[in-house]
Amino acid sequence: MAPDAAKSRYVLPAGMPMPDPARSAPFHHGFWEAARRHELVVQRCRSCATFQFGPEEICHRCHSFDLGWESVEAVGKIYTWERIWHPSFPVLKEACPYLVVLVELPQAGGVRMMGNLLGDPRRDPPIGAKVEAVFEDHDEGFTLVQWRLAE
Ligand SMILES: [Zn+2]
Repeated sequence: MAPDAAKSRYVLPAGMPMPDPARSAPFHHGFWEAARRHELVVQRCRSCATFQFGPEEICHRCHSFDLGWESVEAVGKIYTWERIWHPSFPVLKEACPYLVVLVELPQAGGVRMMGNLLGDPRRDPPIGAKVEAVFEDHDEGFTLVQWRLAE
């Protein structure tokens, strides 16, 4: 964990805009509810069985509106990553540098999710490295999905 991150219970510093699952589009609710249970889910079409992420109202493959959520193992592999040096919000100034990863889920049709990679932000994580989800519960009633390199 980065030395600065030890100051906070959470990966992101106080003052960042935070998600409000209750006010998100209804087709996002399944993801937030599952994260709260420390479960990773991916939207899947009940008509053609295609996985998709981020969530949509319609299947991008067959255009069915019959979409559901499928629980998947909360692991993936690093498709790519970026080290963030310049804060996009003033409160992130002390958090830089940090690593953002694009995680591919082979067990879910290869969909990709973006998130923070926990741990030393100055290392170069190997492309293809296995990562596992870390569910960070917030007092405000939501849970963020973060990632760390798997042992
Ligand atoms: Zn479909």
